Order: sequence, then C-alpha cells, then structure tokens
Amino acid sequence: MKKMILQIEKHPSKFLTTISDEVQLRDLKLAKTLIKDMIATLKNADGMGLAAPQIAVNKRIIIVKTGNKYVEMINPEYVPVGDDCGNTISSQEGCLSLPNVHCTVARWNHIRVNYLNSKWDERFLELSGIQSICVQHEIDHLNGVLMID
Ligand SMILES: [Zn+2]
Repeated sequence: MKKMILQIEKHPSKFLTTISDEVQLRDLKLAKTLIKDMIATLKNADGMGLAAPQIAVNKRIIIVKTGNKYVEMINPEYVPVGDDCGNTISSQEGCLSLPNVHCTVARWNHIRVNYLNSKWDERFLELSGIQSICVQHEIDHLNGVLMID
C-alpha cells in the first residue's frame, strides 16, 4: 500500500481542540492505513511525535519516535510511576501544529503507558525523560489540549 504524507493541522484548527474518540476494533483496518501515513508524515516532518488530530482525524492514535523506531499507540493511557517526589520534569517543548512556538511545560518524568498496537495487542512501555514528555504531549492532543493552554 502506498504511504501518503498528510498535511499537518496548524493552530487554530478545530481538530486540535476536539476530544478524540477511542478507536474500536471495527476501525482497525482504517487505523492501520492511518498509522502508515502518520509515520510517513512524522518522518517527513522530522518530528518526535504525532497525534491523529494533527492530521485532521479525531481518533485516539499517536506515533512516538523511540530511538530509530516509530511506535504506534492506539487508545494510549498513562500513569506516573515511582514516588511522586521528584517525578516531574520541565522542558521547552515544540509542536508541529504550532510552528516557531516553544513553551516550558511541567510533566511527569517517569510514566507507564498502556496502549494497543496495530495488531490490537495490549502493550505497555515505561518511559522517562524526553520520550515520556513526548507521550504526554501527544496524549494531550487527543484531549484537545495544546501546550499553550
Ligand atoms: Zn504537538
């Protein structure tokens, strides 16, 4: 199947301020196509992460770059792990939907994220630092939240 590079929605766009719907099993075929296109789009933009609302689809799908790999996460949810004490991190974040804007945002440092992969298998990852920040940033997009909010 041919991959497509999709246009990235820029602020203000109604897709970026809408709460996205959970992906259902019956949507999986569509989701797989979307995931391929999202990975191609993220590679092309040389970004760290991409959420489906950024390509004008309000479904709970994100792509996160970890090392050289692109991990797709369907219906992702995270919880902080470890003691709350010291488990926050602030850094300057950027966003493909807000070109030339950088914001300092406080996040959890260590998280566990549960999600489904494109085979509908339950998976989880424990992440810290920049990858943890990236997952939290992308899940914010699924909730219609931008880093400027
Ligand atoms: Zn973003």
